[in-house]
Amino acid sequence: MTTRLSDIAGILFDKDGTLLSYDDSWGPVNREAARIGAAGGGVALEERLLRAAGMDPESGRTAADSLFAAGTAAQIAAGFVAAGSPVPVGPLTEALDDLFVRGAQHSVPVTDLSGFFARLKARGFRLGVASSDNERAIRETARRFGFLEHLDFIAGYDSGHGCKPEPGMVLGFCQAVGLFPSQVAMVGDNNHDLHMAAAAGCGLKVAVLTGTGSVASLQAAADHVLGDITDLETLLPERQLA
Ligand SMILES: [Mg+2]
Repeated sequence: MTTRLSDIAGILFDKDGTLLSYDDSWGPVNREAARIGAAGGGVALEERLLRAAGMDPESGRTAADSLFAAGTAAQIAAGFVAAGSPVPVGPLTEALDDLFVRGAQHSVPVTDLSGFFARLKARGFRLGVASSDNERAIRETARRFGFLEHLDFIAGYDSGHGCKPEPGMVLGFCQAVGLFPSQVAMVGDNNHDLHMAAAAGCGLKVAVLTGTGSVASLQAAADHVLGDITDLETLLPERQLA
């Protein structure tokens, strides 16, 4: 089945790593996590912990599917201890949990999201966000960066549409805006996003490189791999507004 780009009338976005830059948002937080894990043990130990959890201390890049990219605080703490952290797993998990909750408040958008969503809206696209975060956190992000008013749909893990890579969030979006899945582009930084799109029968599966994924990790499941979401504005043709 081939979908023409001109058939696309709705766009559903993942949040973390897609609207928000993973490295800019979480790089500084991950460095702080390693400082906590090293507990005064020195820069060499901090760098060993960073590498063990998947982040290159020099480039600031975090590897796809690494502990930092996909692990819980408890899993990251266990990984730190295995790599030489002197802090016991229990207290370390608690400290990292606190840090990650605070860190989420300093997330960095990949572009001026208010302007970006306003331009897509003006072109007639129906717009939504589907994230594994909770719905309230998604709304707060949308409000903080000025695009809440442009959204037709929001789904978090607690919105009643199931979880990625199940198709429910896409189908919920379709029902909310009156489109078929074949008219929807799903945009995300993770294979879960692309597999959800495939399960739902999305017309277009778009991967972006502002998360922890790479061309190598994403190209098999994606129709297009873009540098970031702003490349969508040139990928998608102008819509003929009725
Ligand atoms: Mg993501």
